Amino acid sequence: MADCLFCKIAAGEIPCNKVYEDDDVLAFRDIAPKAPTHILIIPKKHIAHLADCTEEDAVLLAKIQLLAKLLADEEGIAKSGFRVVSNSGEDSGQEVAHLHYHLLGGKKLGDIC
Ligand code: 5GP
Ligand code: ZN
Repeated sequence: MADCLFCKIAAGEIPCNKVYEDDDVLAFRDIAPKAPTHILIIPKKHIAHLADCTEEDAVLLAKIQLLAKLLADEEGIAKSGFRVVSNSGEDSGQEVAHLHYHLLGGKKLGDIC
């Protein structure tokens, strides 16, 4: 989608610190990390937020959840604990209107994201 920051990152038009990529999803480090590990996982296709997802997206959403777990393993935070968060819509404080999941860990997590 034109004018979407994360679509531009997914298309390689804006650089990112990539940690994983395949045909469907991209994971990259948050530009303003709120924890030692702060990775964003996005679908490559534009979906504005979780509230817009349908049954058609079930496999994609499951894939993102499992990728979060895999990346937590790789980051060495699977045992110590981690959090996966997706803000959806205005009241959540969602800033970027392209579905994304925050993977956070590496410290005791308070009330963040
Ligand atoms: P939201 O508030 O929408 O759930 O989260 C958006 C996240 O995207 C924020 O944590 C913010 O730091 C991150 N972010 C915003 N712009 C960029 C960018 O250009 N590159 C990267 N890597 N992260 C970004
Ligand atoms: Zn987008």
